[in-house]
Amino acid sequence: MHRRIDIEALCAAKGLRITDQRRTIAQILSDAEDHPDVETLHERAAAVDPRISIATVYRTVRLFEEAGILERHEFGDGRARYEAASDEHHDHLIDVETGKVIEFVDDELEALQRRIAQKLGFRLVDHRMELFGVALDRNR
Ligand SMILES: [Zn+2]
Repeated sequence: MHRRIDIEALCAAKGLRITDQRRTIAQILSDAEDHPDVETLHERAAAVDPRISIATVYRTVRLFEEAGILERHEFGDGRARYEAASDEHHDHLIDVETGKVIEFVDDELEALQRRIAQKLGFRLVDHRMELFGVALDRNR
């Protein structure tokens, strides 16, 4: 989880033309250890290159997403958030009070989901699991 993924290298592998602005955005996405939305990405990108507009960030993340380089999530607040697509699967728990996103992998859950799909006559190829919670030890 959050093994650094070189998005610029993935762009090259997929034959995407890489401009300076796209490279900057790719590097910020590679370095992100959270699940930033477009506004956050734009803030970070503009700090490196003030010429980068929010429209460019929108276009670039859409391009990367269509190329399968980025994964888009929505964690209940209606905002699209992005992270590098990885071979290593993980799920997310969202703290509904702070918006903090915690990544987890649970073998029992993975096996259960495969069994459910099987029972329904399917081989599982993908899934999304998002848990929404309130911290038990807050305000204690
Ligand atoms: Zn994640």
